Amino acid sequence: MTWRFALVLEPAASDDPRLDFTETFTVIDASEPALSVGELSAQRGDGIFESIGVVDGHPQETTAHLERLVQSARICDLTAPNVPQWRQAIVAAAARCPAGESVIKLILSRGLDHGAYPTAWVTAAPAPDSTAARERGVRVVTLDRGYAIDTPARAPWLLLGAKTLSYAVNMAALREAKRRGADDAIFVSSDGFLLEGPTSSLILRSGGRFVTPEPGAGILHGTTQVSLFAELARRGFETAYETLPVTALAKADAAWLVSSLRLAAPVAEVDGAALAIDAELTASVNEYLLSPRD
Ligand code: PLP
Repeated sequence: MTWRFALVLEPAASDDPRLDFTETFTVIDASEPALSVGELSAQRGDGIFESIGVVDGHPQETTAHLERLVQSARICDLTAPNVPQWRQAIVAAAARCPAGESVIKLILSRGLDHGAYPTAWVTAAPAPDSTAARERGVRVVTLDRGYAIDTPARAPWLLLGAKTLSYAVNMAALREAKRRGADDAIFVSSDGFLLEGPTSSLILRSGGRFVTPEPGAGILHGTTQVSLFAELARRGFETAYETLPVTALAKADAAWLVSSLRLAAPVAEVDGAALAIDAELTASVNEYLLSPRD
């Protein structure tokens, strides 16, 4: 069996001033059952998570992931995470990651159905091999997400924009993409605007500009997209957040789906029509994304 590491945290209050949280960590056997049947994360998907890419033992963009964990907790009315405690747990998990690419997951659940406290745990495991997607690209289909671009503002209880554990819809979209002979999907709003992939952010290049859909449109603000935009700006490119009609995708010079583990996967085909891949730029941005980033 492959290696796997797991650590349970006793969540500390967000203002707990301790400098060392080791006593709140319990390393558990990741191959043994660990969750109670009363866990609301398992019963209802009621919780939040983060997936952090780890390269040669270095967790990438820890601060951005922790900021999003705090933001997701706020949106979901979960107890505010103690950031130094989670940071220390990430360091402990990263210390168990061998050379190569791994993934650290942070999970914060509402807890037990009869309890008053959240449950929290951190895991580490090998990352899936993304070489083919990074080099050859992905074929995508556009799929209706079923809500309009202004739905998130009108219905905050849909928790759009939080990274909740309820990913059944995202996984169903990937299965639908596979049924249609593609590798991945891009969600579009019911009124015709580009959103994101089920597990990734969308970036288009049109003219010399790089654009991505506005995160306010009920999509997750991707840590990889933010990091990549900063790098593209350093390289002298213009970057922007925009409300993009679906037609912008086929008209783009190039497009990528970007995420913490797969990194930048160029879009090779949209709804059966080929899209050009910029192999050289893709290789250089993936080289950047694989370099140590904080
Ligand atoms: N959008 C969704 C729905 C995701 O699930 C993810 C990552 O899992 C992303 C975007 C990309 O986020 P990140 O770059 O932080 O991995």
